[in-house]
Amino acid sequence: MPASIVAIGDELVGGFTLDTNSHWLAERLRILGYPVKRITAIRDRPKEIVEQVHRELADGEVTHVFCCGGLGPTPDDRTFAALAEALGSDLVIWQETRERIERRVKRMHEAGLLESPDVTEGNLRMARIPAEPARVFKNRRGMAPGVVYEASGKRLFVLPGVPMELKGIFTEELEPEFLSDGSAATVREVRFTFAVEAKFYPLMRELEEAFPDVSVGSYPNFETKELVIRCLGTDPKRVDAVIELVRRRSELLGMVGDSR
Ligand code: ATP
Ligand code: MG
Repeated sequence: MPASIVAIGDELVGGFTLDTNSHWLAERLRILGYPVKRITAIRDRPKEIVEQVHRELADGEVTHVFCCGGLGPTPDDRTFAALAEALGSDLVIWQETRERIERRVKRMHEAGLLESPDVTEGNLRMARIPAEPARVFKNRRGMAPGVVYEASGKRLFVLPGVPMELKGIFTEELEPEFLSDGSAATVREVRFTFAVEAKFYPLMRELEEAFPDVSVGSYPNFETKELVIRCLGTDPKRVDAVIELVRRRSELLGMVGDSR
């Protein structure tokens, strides 16, 4: 059940902010058995968001799409409006979210964090979501809700960009309800120190042919001088067989790795 991620924000594409949300989501989704096929970062431009959502929905392989960012109270956050256009639906005020926002504003006012207890037009923007959501998440850490849509036979999740809010909604609300059917791939690695990556070329070509169901990657770290050969596959026995081969063959080449 492959997933895909769309990170939305001018600050991501402009090189101001590192897209840690996609990295975090990709790891969680792999562990939960929904491996990510593609990560895309795009700007806060409605036309580009619409185009990307259409691309994701047209991908026959992907079953779960995660969009994050651009749900905020300022006019530069345009995800919900663009999504409404992409899904061909209207923006509606979601009452439950509106009431949560009202309560939150009131609490923040009482705590002296806001001057007025009144909900602003900016606050209200976050309760205006495309109809008809399959489910609206609460978000215990912020105002913007998380939302799920069913479209083109897929689940399309929309999450706030603030990392703490995204992680909170994902682990507390989304994961238990929507991501409990996956089975994670087996991941095993062999680590070498001072190994020459090029020496693995023939072996990796061979493994590609003999084990098309196991993906084998070579990841050198030039600072620590460590080389990781990482194997990933759905059948643990096949992954173990590849790891064994890597160990044996590298020993013949005079390199001793540490496998885990
Ligand atoms: P909220 O409504 O809760 O403010 P939002 O969806 O509007 O959320 P953004 O306005 O897009 O979120 O971003 C809020 C903050 O989160 C910004 O500081 C932004 O840089 C950061 N952020 C957004 N997307 C990412 C990301 N992919 N990785 C890391 N940080 C991000
Ligand atoms: Mg933004």
